Amino acid sequence: MPNATGDSNGSTVDTSTAHPARRYNYWLGGKDNFAADRESADAIEAVFPHIRTAAVENRRFLQRVVRVLTQEHGIRQFLDVGTGLPTADNTHQVAQRIEPSSRVVYVDNDPLVLTHARALLTSAPEGRTAYISADLRDPESILAHADLVATLDLSRPVAVMLIAVLHFVHDDDQADKAIATLMGALPPGSFLALTHATADFLPPEIAAALTSGKVRGASSFEGRSGAQVARLLDGNGLELIEPGLTVVSQWRPDPDVTPPPAEHVSVYGAVARKL
Ligand code: SAH
Repeated sequence: MPNATGDSNGSTVDTSTAHPARRYNYWLGGKDNFAADRESADAIEAVFPHIRTAAVENRRFLQRVVRVLTQEHGIRQFLDVGTGLPTADNTHQVAQRIEPSSRVVYVDNDPLVLTHARALLTSAPEGRTAYISADLRDPESILAHADLVATLDLSRPVAVMLIAVLHFVHDDDQADKAIATLMGALPPGSFLALTHATADFLPPEIAAALTSGKVRGASSFEGRSGAQVARLLDGNGLELIEPGLTVVSQWRPDPDVTPPPAEHVSVYGAVARKL
């Protein structure tokens, strides 16, 4: 298999620098992380004390979206790019609980996620899952991968999940190209779901501290404004479904839940349908 990461991640697990998947795993209370990840995670939490709320709310959004797309829009195929380390209720588990024949292809560029991929391959017998080690910045390599071709029928609708991954793709042209290439390969009735960190709701001093050298590091995320996220969603024949671009916790919250305030979440979410 060609090395599709196209960056310095290489193919071995480097425990000396923080990796987003492991840092996120730590915020969610997981155990698949190392000292460098915890140090970077704690530095971010010291500046933005609500980061664990943000991580949990982001994860809940993913689960609500998979439920809505499976239950209300008949989606049976998912392409989940930037999967992260397996946790409770991954995409295929949520979808297959509703429709066991659902098929899910997972993609991540972190070698540690690859070593945990077996936990993502616990498909219901009626459905199917696959894991591909590849980079969102090289979307053609994802679409052409034999395991994707063997798992998803690209003549039928697919929901592309870009959940908390685009803020690691800092270059707007690369982000636009990734979305255009993936959505361009899919038929009408497909969906794009995304979430994205933002500083829109934060006091300027916290926003500035989050982009300071200490917190940033090589693997850091870069927020986009609501207008910038809206631009990513613009074009490609995409139309937002209700309630549009919102803070993730306010996107169709469960009826018995009072969403935390936007400034404690600071992650945008949206779901769009391809016309
Ligand atoms: N989508 C999951 C995990 C988010 S953590 C969730 O929301 O719960 C972000 C993940 O994106 C990490 O696992 C990280 O390794 C992955 N990632 C970051 N940049 C990437 C890229 N360019 N291509 C593929 N995956 C990437």
